[in-house]
Amino acid sequence: MEMDYPGNLYVVAAPSGAGKSSLVKALLELDSRLMVSVSHTTRAPRGQERHGREYWFIGQDEFRAMIDRGDFFEWAEVHGNLYGTSRAAMEARLSQGEDVVLEIDYQGALQIKQIFPTAVLIFILPPSWDELRQRLLRRGEDAGEVIEQRMVNARHEVAQARHFDYVVVNALFETALFDLKAIVHAQRLKWAAQRRSRSAVFDALQLN
Ligand code: GDP
Ligand code: ADP
Ligand code: 5GP
Repeated sequence: MEMDYPGNLYVVAAPSGAGKSSLVKALLELDSRLMVSVSHTTRAPRGQERHGREYWFIGQDEFRAMIDRGDFFEWAEVHGNLYGTSRAAMEARLSQGEDVVLEIDYQGALQIKQIFPTAVLIFILPPSWDELRQRLLRRGEDAGEVIEQRMVNARHEVAQARHFDYVVVNALFETALFDLKAIVHAQRLKWAAQRRSRSAVFDALQLN
């Protein structure tokens, strides 16, 4: 089933530690028209994370029940935990013409592209394997074996970047943020978006 909404859907994926969450947070602070969707996960919360802010933290049974009810737009198993985007909040926003950002893994991103072909898929790459490991270590939120598992999975994840619409290399944070802003900006210059946001100009020019 293909879907179409007036709002833009941005899907951002990256290997763990590439800087996806930091970049999306900074982008949202600059752009009040973007809203991030809060995923559900069976992973345990990290130190600073709060239920309903970074994620809705739920148990396996509750997650499985949500799958069975069809509550998820997409879901996937990542690094041994379950993650999913709930349908309700996201569709409500997009149907109002608001933009939504999903911070999800590549499996979820590719599922979204199937049901929502106009979704804009963005892959964030780290500048090197060494730097990726350094960032995971510096973040200091995951145990040693969790970091090693994420480094192993990262090899497979970055190979999926070719299927995305855009690739942003997060070497210098401000440069990567500028690149993300450019993608969002370009999307808003597309004909259908301009027809909505600049309707007075289109009307004056009798453009339909
Ligand atoms: P991070 O990799 O350091 O951001 O660690 P997280 O535990 O926050 O995320 C683990 C993985 O799950 C990442 O690849 C996320 O992009 C992915 N993820 C988070 N939420 C979702 C979701 O709703 N759906 C899917 N498919 N993946 C998600
Ligand atoms: P992800 O959400 O992709 O797992 P985070 O946003 O948590 O990644 O970033 C991982 C770590 O790397 C964090 O400690 C963050 O502050 C740091 N970081 C992010 N981008 C950069 C960058 N361009 N240069 C150096 N450190 C960065
Ligand atoms: P972390 O556990 O470090 O927060 O996230 C690990 C990975 O899970 C990240 O790549 C993150 O993007 C992904 N992830 C988070 N939420 C979702 C989600 O709802 N769906 C999918 N498919 N992946 C998610």
